[in-house]
Amino acid sequence: MTAYDQNNIFARILRGEIPCRKVYEDDSALAFHDINPQAPFHVLVIPKGPYVSMADFTANAPDALVLGFFRAVGKVAAELGLVDPGYRILANHGPDSHQEVPHLHIHIFGGKRLGPMLVRDWPKA
Ligand code: AMP
Repeated sequence: MTAYDQNNIFARILRGEIPCRKVYEDDSALAFHDINPQAPFHVLVIPKGPYVSMADFTANAPDALVLGFFRAVGKVAAELGLVDPGYRILANHGPDSHQEVPHLHIHIFGGKRLGPMLVRDWPKA
């Protein structure tokens, strides 16, 4: 797994070095609007700790942080009013997923009918 880059853009947001449109913060997590939204609601939730991805976080973060982070994801979706209409969460890990920022983030998408999860574009067996 790649080593954590202390200067990735989300680390800089956590340190307050660059701004974000914050929607929620607690001891475990920070949530803010994605700069390039893919749905009417597109919010990113990041843990407050140096974790590259879901694989790194679930293997190495303390239990209290894992718990607090996932509770924060649920809370943000609820506070955005997305529980009843529904929403999608997604986390990319590694090159096949097209992860661009090497700090774990969960995308929350909502605010419209999101359609099927993935487009089938690989050859049938
Ligand atoms: P991923 O491809 O899963 O790594 O997603 C990275 C996401 O971060 C993309 O949806 C970007 O639009 C978003 N992003 C990159 N820079 C910023 C920023 N400064 N503030 C908010 N979102 C950002």
